[in-house]
Amino acid sequence: MKTTTVKAYGATASTEDLKPLDIQRRLVGADDVKIDISFCGVCHSDIHTVRNDWKGSTYPVVPGHEIIGRVVEVGKNVSSHKVGDLVGVGCLVDSCQTCASCEQDLEQFCEKGATWTYNSSDQHIEGAQTYGGYAKSVVVDEKFVLRVPENLDEAATAPLLCAGVTTWSPLSHWKVKKGDKVGVIGLGGLGHMGVKFAHALGANVVMITTSPEKGKDAKRLGAHEVLVSKDEEDMKKHRGSFDFILNTIPVGHEMDPYLALLKIDATMVLVGAVEPLKPFNGGSIIMGRKRIAGSLIGGIKETQEMLDFCGKHNITSDIELINIQDINKAYERVIKNDVKYRFVIDMKSLN
Ligand code: NAP
Ligand code: ZN
Repeated sequence: MKTTTVKAYGATASTEDLKPLDIQRRLVGADDVKIDISFCGVCHSDIHTVRNDWKGSTYPVVPGHEIIGRVVEVGKNVSSHKVGDLVGVGCLVDSCQTCASCEQDLEQFCEKGATWTYNSSDQHIEGAQTYGGYAKSVVVDEKFVLRVPENLDEAATAPLLCAGVTTWSPLSHWKVKKGDKVGVIGLGGLGHMGVKFAHALGANVVMITTSPEKGKDAKRLGAHEVLVSKDEEDMKKHRGSFDFILNTIPVGHEMDPYLALLKIDATMVLVGAVEPLKPFNGGSIIMGRKRIAGSLIGGIKETQEMLDFCGKHNITSDIELINIQDINKAYERVIKNDVKYRFVIDMKSLN
């Protein structure tokens, strides 16, 4: 497989800062689309992977799975995208396309293992791994390239490719509807999209946060109420009242206080904490036949539906635009819970 050298930014070890490096990308194959990357969002998962929080990181890691750019070349079989199109790439770049999950448009659960945009084994270059969007360009099979509505702000659209679909998918799968009382835990990259989507679906949205100072923003984003999770009295007032809770907390945490908020038969969906959770009482779900579930991004079809919905309703992320040279500072700020509400890298700065 012939490759070409592409400028990127990545980490060579879990303890190292990100820095400029060169990576190899494949040349455009018959089914491929080459994208000049204009913007890339900074997901907390990028940081988890760079710092090897989930183990299994292989270095160098070039993160970035909230990719926006223009098509600059297409392979001879490509029919869904053309040169000049505004497109996006999220967390997925390949899957087997034939297993039961892929047939149901759930490529993220591909039985042969989905290929993630970064830190996954590359299906095209033997022995290589995938590198993400903190780079000049990327080559992706057309099936994993999304159409981006031209009416949306390009930079603010980038986070939709991960934070957007990760919050859209559970709201849609659990059929959140007008009038439901929906809690979103954690006002970060994912959480702020969760609030916007739940609001757009007509739910009565409560922002559940550890940061009272974010309350005003939460309301501006679409929350009807703000519940400070550290305030026990306030938590008591909301006990047993939620139809659905979307939990974006990025680390293991106490579950009982949040489970107490659910109504009978209601569900709390975890999207953030991959690691062990603190032990919780069986009684917290037995009493009230409550459910805890998980959700992983969303399939390609669903991602396109989400983008189309955003185009129609003019929904994008609230972002802080940075240069790639500021990425290490940005990571520190995400860890300190200090971003409003997603960093997006202006990839022009890589020149
Ligand atoms: P983020 O921007 O850092 O937001 C997380 C928010 O959670 C923070 O803003 C904070 O909100 C709250 N929080 C942080 N630490 C907390 C703690 N110890 N206890 C309670 N609340 C806490 O992160 P993100 O990019 O939204 O990602 C969230 C998590 O989802 C990450 O672990 C990421 O890897 C994961 N993720 C999962 C998927 C998936 O498919 N399942 C996809 C993308 C990302 P407040 O200040 O409002 O409390
Ligand atoms: Zn992500």
